[in-house]
Amino acid sequence: MTKRQRLYEGKAKVIFEGPEAGTLVQYFKDDATAFNAQKKDVIKGKGVLNNYISEHIMTAVGDLGIPNHFIARLNDREQLIRKLEIIPVEVVVRNVAAGSICPRLGLEEGAILNNKLVEFFLKDDSLGDPIVAPEHIFTFGWATPKELEIIVEDTLRINDFLTELFLGIGVRLIDFKLEFGRFYRDQDAADDPVIMLADEISPDNCRLWDAQTNEKMDKDRFRRDLGGLVEAYQEIAQRMGVNIPDLNQ
Ligand code: ADP
Ligand code: UDP
Repeated sequence: MTKRQRLYEGKAKVIFEGPEAGTLVQYFKDDATAFNAQKKDVIKGKGVLNNYISEHIMTAVGDLGIPNHFIARLNDREQLIRKLEIIPVEVVVRNVAAGSICPRLGLEEGAILNNKLVEFFLKDDSLGDPIVAPEHIFTFGWATPKELEIIVEDTLRINDFLTELFLGIGVRLIDFKLEFGRFYRDQDAADDPVIMLADEISPDNCRLWDAQTNEKMDKDRFRRDLGGLVEAYQEIAQRMGVNIPDLNQ
């Protein structure tokens, strides 16, 4: 294998320079973190599962016409992606109350929300990813109103699409987190950059409950010490028709 430069190591992935300008390789680790990385573990096979599941979802989202960074899966743990300028805002959509919104607003886990609720969090671990309003996003220049409009429109389309996709396999999509970035087609061009979906969509950043039993099939299994995370992710992959290699190799 050729020597590649490691550009960044995050909590769940490592980013390497890609084979061509404007590309990167994202490597999916088995590391699991929660509560702003205060809880940590290594869960054998998680990275492989997320790589395959995210490939499947990113490809389907691309087929809808929503631009995203995914180019190709290179192997069990790596994807070739477009290099973006990441917008430092995590976009969360909620269909059902769960996670941080429950203590924040005094809601019961499982309460159905009247609206598909979009929330924004500043992507800054040192500040604990605080919730922010669009006014903060514009005031501090993290994204323009036009960019945020595209982001929200893409996010709601992805939510509608994934809600149906998961319902079709007996899974409720409770909430999920997306990241977006700017893709500069030509550094010299005056054109606005293209807003693209980035990062990953996997059970690490979605809440997925079995439609029959409401059993959790996502990273809450780790957050809440429920065990069986790999089995749950494998079940999601199998129901989606995604073939996963032998994780014991
Ligand atoms: P974190 O940085 O939150 O610990 P990860 O371990 O998942 O998260 O690391 C992946 C990093 O790569 C994230 O910071 C994410 O914003 C960034 N990233 C994802 N997709 C792209 C992309 N297409 N171009 C540039 N950076 C990206
Ligand atoms: N999420 C994520 N990364 C984060 C924070 C949240 O992927 O840094 C996902 C999380 O898995 C859930 C959704 O975003 O699907 C909403 O998360 P919440 O705000 O409830 O935060 P939590 O308390 O779960 O971290």
